[in-house]
Amino acid sequence: MEIRLLDRTEIRSHITHLECSLSGEECGHDMPHRLNPKNGKPYLVRYDLAKAAETLTKESMPRREPNMWRYREVMPVIDPANIVTLGEGFTPLREATRLGSRLGMNSLLIKDEGVNPTGSFKARGLSAAVSKALELKQIKLTMPSAGNAAGAMSAYAAAAGMEAHVYMPKDAPIANQIECTAYGAELNLVDGFITDAGRISGEAAEKYGYFDVSTLKEPYRVEGKKTMGYEIVEQLGFEVPDVVIYPTGGGTGIVGIWKALDEMEQLGWIGSERPRMICVQASGCSPLVDAYKKGEEFAEPFKNPSTLAAGMRVPSAVGDFLVIRAVRESAGTALTVTDDQMVASVQEMAEFEGIFPAPEGGATLSALQLLLESGEIAKDERVVLLNTGSALKYLDVLGPALGL
Ligand SMILES: *Cc1c(COP(=O)(O)O)cnc(C)c1O
Repeated sequence: MEIRLLDRTEIRSHITHLECSLSGEECGHDMPHRLNPKNGKPYLVRYDLAKAAETLTKESMPRREPNMWRYREVMPVIDPANIVTLGEGFTPLREATRLGSRLGMNSLLIKDEGVNPTGSFKARGLSAAVSKALELKQIKLTMPSAGNAAGAMSAYAAAAGMEAHVYMPKDAPIANQIECTAYGAELNLVDGFITDAGRISGEAAEKYGYFDVSTLKEPYRVEGKKTMGYEIVEQLGFEVPDVVIYPTGGGTGIVGIWKALDEMEQLGWIGSERPRMICVQASGCSPLVDAYKKGEEFAEPFKNPSTLAAGMRVPSAVGDFLVIRAVRESAGTALTVTDDQMVASVQEMAEFEGIFPAPEGGATLSALQLLLESGEIAKDERVVLLNTGSALKYLDVLGPALGL
């Protein structure tokens, strides 16, 4: 029997308002907002979850489209005509049996985000942000980025016929420079660091009326990335894993997954159980891990950041306190791994699972090994590693690291 998929027009978004993540102050969602002007902190999107629960039921899930817009009731776009999609999300949650048995584990899973459009999970955040920008009639986008986010923004802007302006440090990975150019974005190479690129992008936004879609500085990228949390739970038959290991840069993903878990509890999908959230950063750029270890709520900017994992080369994150809170409230932990450990793990995951992960994805395996050794993760726990991207975008750095 053929199952008729629900049409996007048959279900609707139950977005209600935005809420400041620090002060709880509320504002409308019908205007383009960025950070809360009063305290410089991000807004989070809120929904009428009781209403959403009427249609977003476990039973309805098999009838939904196989991408992240299957959770439409808890996505921010009101008119389905504004959804800009390339088929992102609903990625495989693979049982990693060979790697698991090598580590003596019986329930190791890898959420493989490398198969997303543009080769990383940045596709989720940018599909949501570009769609909502279109809905709010912001059709000229800008972003400072050293990596995958710029590629994703450029691809979604191209799909929607919008303008994309990218500001990258001159030493940004070659794959990201090439893809932005291919997607027709205006690529500006900046002689300096990502912070300089950010300043110049901000000035251009002001001067030319561009809309800046940098991480957490607008509220909608988190909404795209939170769908990873919904998918993990749905793919486990509406169960919550024991541990989620996440390679953290700006932290949009960890904040999003944590938000999704809360929403799912209110939707009646899960109870109050939560996975322990593990934040992994590179030893060459670890502002959040350092703040967590010092018992602080906010992070100091990290000086002279250096790691081959461009996605984790984020010296200062506006959502720092949200990441640190999620780690603490979940009774998780935060730790660093070195570039050498990451590269070894890239090789190991490729060789034992057929998944060729980005160095950031490799970092989650390195972290798992350290936490198994220290006893902080038990071998019989159900652990999800997030491989956030494909290694194919890092060949220029991985080749030499693997001796080629
Ligand atoms: C951006 C990026 C990250 C970090 O993601 P955040 O959600 O900003 O912490 C990790 N891995 C890859 C491959 C990325 O591109």
